[in-house]
Amino acid sequence: MIRQLEELARRADAELQEAHAEEALNELRTKYLGRKGLLTQMLRQLGSAPPAERPRLGKLSNEIKDKIAGALDAALKRIEDSRGDELLRQEAVDVTLPGRAVRIGQRHPVTQVMEEICGIFSRLGFTVEEGPEIETDYYNFEALNIPKDHPARDMQDTFYVSDNIVLRTHTSPVQIRTMEKMRPPVRILSPGKVYRPDSDVSHTPMFHQIEGLLVDRGITFGDLKGVLTFFLQEVFGADILPRFRPSFFPFTEPSAEVDIRCVMCGGEGCRVCGQSGWLEILGSGMVDPAVFANVGYDPEEYSGFAFGLGVERIAMLKYGISDIRLFFENDARFLEQF
Ligand SMILES: [Zn+2]
Repeated sequence: MIRQLEELARRADAELQEAHAEEALNELRTKYLGRKGLLTQMLRQLGSAPPAERPRLGKLSNEIKDKIAGALDAALKRIEDSRGDELLRQEAVDVTLPGRAVRIGQRHPVTQVMEEICGIFSRLGFTVEEGPEIETDYYNFEALNIPKDHPARDMQDTFYVSDNIVLRTHTSPVQIRTMEKMRPPVRILSPGKVYRPDSDVSHTPMFHQIEGLLVDRGITFGDLKGVLTFFLQEVFGADILPRFRPSFFPFTEPSAEVDIRCVMCGGEGCRVCGQSGWLEILGSGMVDPAVFANVGYDPEEYSGFAFGLGVERIAMLKYGISDIRLFFENDARFLEQF
């Protein structure tokens, strides 16, 4: 019987060496240690052994049982461990790989220029006022001294929503809305979108305008020149030479267009300035007394000036852009350059 036990131990050991899968190990456990297992059966025969040998046989059987169970447990643990290693390998993160680049957005060049302009005027005490883009005929035209059938209406092609409602053609209606609700001194800037049916390299049906208005006692054309000269030097540099040229706008009298020495050719004459050496930058003038009358200001007591400029035009000159439509094509390669 001792030989049988030793033979069983050897066989179990050999089969354990061959078993590498969890399933095979569990089968071995059943085969040797299960209720009907080989070792279990032999232990049951202990009773028929001679009494003198029983203790020795019992001790040996238990040793073999422990050895097989221990080997099975160790083998199972090895499998589990290697499975953990495999899992770690699969889920490993290679921290040396380059990360995915995050594209950082930025403000549109038109927004940047608009904020720069508003920033310059805010240092002079101007505050920003906004108004509706869908306007009544009254605020867009009549209150600004442009009655129906006035030839000045031909200066601005207009999108009509109905007979009496328009997409505003300029941000000047904000002047009227502001003066209606406050008394002088008034010092405002009205930036925003305006609309005109027009499209070519220098016109888009929607563009941005900034208008300024300053009203107080004793405001003169000299104040207008001083403020606008300061502004233009801040944007284009101290050596630009502004030129004030007589012009006409229905809501200002006298009116002036302001030019600067061409930033492209320095005044030599080029394609951008049409060989003139000068660039038109903005329109301006002293507020017409008729406009004051419409908002209840006494023209004898108050005077003021207004000005307006196209934001895209300033951005084009500042950055050397030749086609205004580039601003609105939303090509990231273009927009990223500013
Ligand atoms: Zn030029």
